[in-house]
Amino acid sequence: PLVVVAIDGPAASGKSSTAHWVAERLGYRHVDSGALYRALTLLATQEAGAVEGWTEAVLLALAARVRLAPIPGGFEPLIDERPAGDGIRGAEVTRCVSKVAQMPGVRDWVNARVRTAAEGNAVVVDGRDIGTVVFPAAPLKIFLVADPWERARRRLVQRLNRRPTDDEIAEETERLVQRDAKDATQTVQAKDAILLDTTYLTQAEQVDRIVALARA
Ligand code: C5P
Repeated sequence: PLVVVAIDGPAASGKSSTAHWVAERLGYRHVDSGALYRALTLLATQEAGAVEGWTEAVLLALAARVRLAPIPGGFEPLIDERPAGDGIRGAEVTRCVSKVAQMPGVRDWVNARVRTAAEGNAVVVDGRDIGTVVFPAAPLKIFLVADPWERARRRLVQRLNRRPTDDEIAEETERLVQRDAKDATQTVQAKDAILLDTTYLTQAEQVDRIVALARA
């Protein structure tokens, strides 16, 4: 039987951290599909020249050097068999990743890797199209949303480790909204997904709700 909790939603909606904690509570493994897009993009920034010249063929050739490896509680992306590391969260990768994620062959590659990771495992998978494309038969699908200002604020608190100013939040909000627009075609709420607006929820509350739904 397919044991998959699919968590989709826009950028910085808290998908990855929520998925991580839900997986831990349920004793499932966490699969972060965005981390694969990011690891491939990181490798491209290092070896494929200027982003304007990136073609699907170039990216798919690089993809042979990226894979997901099991770690306790989940998976991590490897580049040439080494952990891809925090570089995948950097500004340059974040700026370029949507272009990579729009290539159909790259999407097929990520989806195949994610499905392989889920084989024989109970998993919580987070991304944009997990409930619609990757695991349309997942028994539990969550679509996480939050107000863009609040998403930007949370992202900055995480990054800066202090209280961001309103100007900083405004700038980050603009960036998030732009990435959402670039990712819009692949960010789809499945018809049978449960919409969870986390604007006024704490991390613990979000996790509790999803765990309760998974156990129901
Ligand atoms: O979730 P995260 O922000 O790490 O994802 C990085 C990028 O990967 C997104 O901006 C999007 O372009 C792409 N992505 C995707 N489909 C997924 C997961 C991520 O297109 N399932």
